[in-house]
Amino acid sequence: MLTEILPINENSLRLSKEIILRGGAVAIPTETVYGLGANALDGGAVKRVFEIKGRPNDNPLIVHVHKEYDISGLVSYIPQYAKRLAERFQPGPLTMVYKSKGAVCPEVSCGLDTVAVRVPSHAGAQAFLKYIDLPIAAPSANLSKHVSPVTAEHVFADLNGKIELILDGGKCSGGIESTVLDCTGEIPAILRSGLVTREMIAEVAGDCIEYVPAEGERVRSPGMKYSHYCPNCASVLFDGKEEAVRYYNECEKKGVKAFIMCDDETAKTLNVERILNLGATENEIASNLYFKLREGEEKAQAIIAIAPRNQSGIMAGVMNRLERACKKQ
Ligand code: AMP
Ligand code: MG
Repeated sequence: MLTEILPINENSLRLSKEIILRGGAVAIPTETVYGLGANALDGGAVKRVFEIKGRPNDNPLIVHVHKEYDISGLVSYIPQYAKRLAERFQPGPLTMVYKSKGAVCPEVSCGLDTVAVRVPSHAGAQAFLKYIDLPIAAPSANLSKHVSPVTAEHVFADLNGKIELILDGGKCSGGIESTVLDCTGEIPAILRSGLVTREMIAEVAGDCIEYVPAEGERVRSPGMKYSHYCPNCASVLFDGKEEAVRYYNECEKKGVKAFIMCDDETAKTLNVERILNLGATENEIASNLYFKLREGEEKAQAIIAIAPRNQSGIMAGVMNRLERACKKQ
């Protein structure tokens, strides 16, 4: 199969619709990472998305809708706090999990009685969703376990020959996946941290907890149990820069080409040749994380990441990805 990368316009949207209506999948940009979208009402199409990615079949997908789409046909109950959150953060990088009405096919939620809904703010994603006007199930458009894609070229590198079309919307600005929030209980619970932080949610909803599965409990967000975001080279994570530099020097001695990945402030203090600089602000660091992991796997034999000092707010999401992408030392 030939994989085309096209800019988003009337032509490519028409082609996207054709592909989706015949049960295929299209890669689309969003403000977080690129997604691989298929019709959420078509079980065959959704199954194919799992196959294309090599995704475990108990890891449910998020349903994406445009901002005027009426989700009352998809979800059975929306608590008051969730209405306020949706008002404040949608469109945007917040996914909300509700009790399902059973309208989307069971393959989307892997048999769970809930459905995760997101309204992306990216203009290209909105144009695509509006043009198709169907709920679109979309995981990240990478091979399962690999680093999520934040450019059309990243998608191409993973899925060339496996899908027909990648809509090119430039580099994703957010850079890490959406916050996944369970809205089925009395208090919203974060299942996966992201750009909409616990503090931001608590301010609107009154309270917000971080979900931690109890010993032996069936996890509520199955995606969290899998290894994820791994670059195709050795990758390690250190808390402090001294240990990271020591490891870098050991690599040098062994002839292993290593890069240190860290924020701009730390980078300025390092006396090493090869650095993957994530940038200065929290938003820059989140936005550059996958981009730099992908750049690193092209150039390096080993990526040596240094954990950010501040690990709350957006950096909780960054830290969560780093811990999965790199082996903690
Ligand atoms: P990805 O598509 O790779 O961004 O991953 C989607 C994330 O959303 C995974 O961590 C899933 O476990 C989570 N998710 C999707 N649907 C549900 C749901 N119905 N209940 C709980 N978590 C969900
Ligand atoms: Mg993913």
